[in-house]
Amino acid sequence: MTYGNVKLNGNQPKRKRRKLRKSFVISASLFLITFTLLLVFLFFPTTARKLKKIGYSPEAIEIIKQDKIANTLIDGNYFSENLQSAILSKNYDLKYLDLYLIQDKTTEDDTLLYDKLIAKGYSTNELILLYSSLTFKEMTPLLVFDKVKTVDFYINDVSDHRITNNAQNFFELSGSYIEYYKETEVSVSIDRNALMVNKHYYIDENFIPNDLVTLSIQYAASDRQLQREAADALQTMCDALQSETGLRMYASSAYRSYQSQVEIYNGYVATKGQEAADLVAARPGFSEHQTGLTVDMTPVGSSMGEFGDSEQFKWMLENSYKYGWILRYPEGKTTITGYDFEAWHYRYLGVDLATKVHNSGLTYDEYYELYLK
Ligand SMILES: [Zn+2]
Repeated sequence: MTYGNVKLNGNQPKRKRRKLRKSFVISASLFLITFTLLLVFLFFPTTARKLKKIGYSPEAIEIIKQDKIANTLIDGNYFSENLQSAILSKNYDLKYLDLYLIQDKTTEDDTLLYDKLIAKGYSTNELILLYSSLTFKEMTPLLVFDKVKTVDFYINDVSDHRITNNAQNFFELSGSYIEYYKETEVSVSIDRNALMVNKHYYIDENFIPNDLVTLSIQYAASDRQLQREAADALQTMCDALQSETGLRMYASSAYRSYQSQVEIYNGYVATKGQEAADLVAARPGFSEHQTGLTVDMTPVGSSMGEFGDSEQFKWMLENSYKYGWILRYPEGKTTITGYDFEAWHYRYLGVDLATKVHNSGLTYDEYYELYLK
């Protein structure tokens, strides 16, 4: 027993010490592990924490993780309220990232214009410059022009000619960088009423509308022709003008054949020279009159040139689109349309399209490039 006691007494403190050492090791290890985890957590934050730090809300972070775009956003440190709301709408595309970052709000029109300008050959850097300097309607003319060499020049031209407090957003560009008739292509009809003819799109020498009808002399000078649908719409419009105001107007010019345009254009060139002729008359093949969808209106008792000063013109500005007609060469848009303001020249597009163009506030050239091409 004594021996055993000695043995027992001798072993007990050793065990206790071992136990103590063991628990110390365990606690230290636990502490170290916790400390390391804490360090990892602090210095290597999770994706969600990183996104939160940039500015994203928990709802946006959920979508970002699902769409697997976290790394792109984190690496570039990309955040704007506009980008976040685009992500939250779930209707976004990171190819428009630049727009989401520059703009306060990005609409479908903005992204559509962006795509069209990219297709026209503008670089993303040029687009960043354009979108950060100009409004939507200040950029749409670029769709009509051949690609401008330096966007800086265009931006300066717009800023120099901007007219503020102007509901119609008129700005007459210097256009010194534009060369009309330089790049041209034959117009392809997407819809018979929508056919585009301007200084870029031409129609063939042999193009003759197949349903031309002669207008009654109540609505036109003698032997004037239009496509049937346009002819009916012209009569309805003239009747509406008369019943609402008591005033009358008629088409002094309507369909013109390729050959008659040759004569008109050459006549202007002979008297004014080519540059001045190009502002008032279309080159053969480039005249809208050849479509059979265009008229030049004259107030009864006055001349075509005075149409812009007439009550008939005021009525037309407010009402022509309701009958399918638009003012084709408006004031302040010469650079875009390629023609001086022509108060008398109207184009038939059909009620639906004419209403859309009217409401857009764009010239038909811009509207066509943006929405119909
Ligand atoms: Zn005309």
